[in-house]
Amino acid sequence: MNTVIVCGITQDHVINIGTIDPNNGSDRHYLQFEAAQAFLTMQRAAALDGVDCQILSSYRSFAQQQSIWDRKWHGQLPILDNNDAVINPGTLSNEEKLHAILRWSALPGTSRHHWGTDFDVVDRQSILKINHPLKLVASEYEPDGICGELTTWLKANASHFGFEQPYAHDNGGIGVEPWHYSYTPLAHKLQPYLTLELLITTIQNSDIAGKETVLMHLPTIFERYYQ
Ligand SMILES: [Zn+2]
Repeated sequence: MNTVIVCGITQDHVINIGTIDPNNGSDRHYLQFEAAQAFLTMQRAAALDGVDCQILSSYRSFAQQQSIWDRKWHGQLPILDNNDAVINPGTLSNEEKLHAILRWSALPGTSRHHWGTDFDVVDRQSILKINHPLKLVASEYEPDGICGELTTWLKANASHFGFEQPYAHDNGGIGVEPWHYSYTPLAHKLQPYLTLELLITTIQNSDIAGKETVLMHLPTIFERYYQ
């Protein structure tokens, strides 16, 4: 069961957050029940401190992640470099394109968003006040950024509710994602199920864009981004 959960093949493990609390604004989002409850508790605590902590993105299936992946591979969604500038995909080899996408988007089957334990946060009130679309780049989550107050609050408090930031540091694989939080008690149980062997089978059974290139480099990809 955990092997299909960890690659996003099923969504039996997640529930709509709106079924727990219909009034909290997260009714488009899905998490595992225990993670959703912990999030709602944390969200209420943030609200008491005047901070609006909302989910921007939560559970994603393999198919949803593939849609992002395929559009980036085919040049229908921008691929960003380390400075958030758009890369011209025509200048990249398939292998270079693979790594450029992996910096900011997970390979379908490897996203922590499959697990129902992970989500991205946003300060919705601040966004509404300045009427400015979020680009979801790191500068927006720095102290003087639009989600700075939220970031400061979460850094001080999220761990008390069981949440941690798996992408807080740049180790040369996945870029720093200050908006991404994970519910540790459940995520730590799922992580060991994501193995190279499972990933090879999952990708072989899929029709993702660039499949041949991905399969050729999968051991390297796994080591660099997912271990
Ligand atoms: Zn995320």
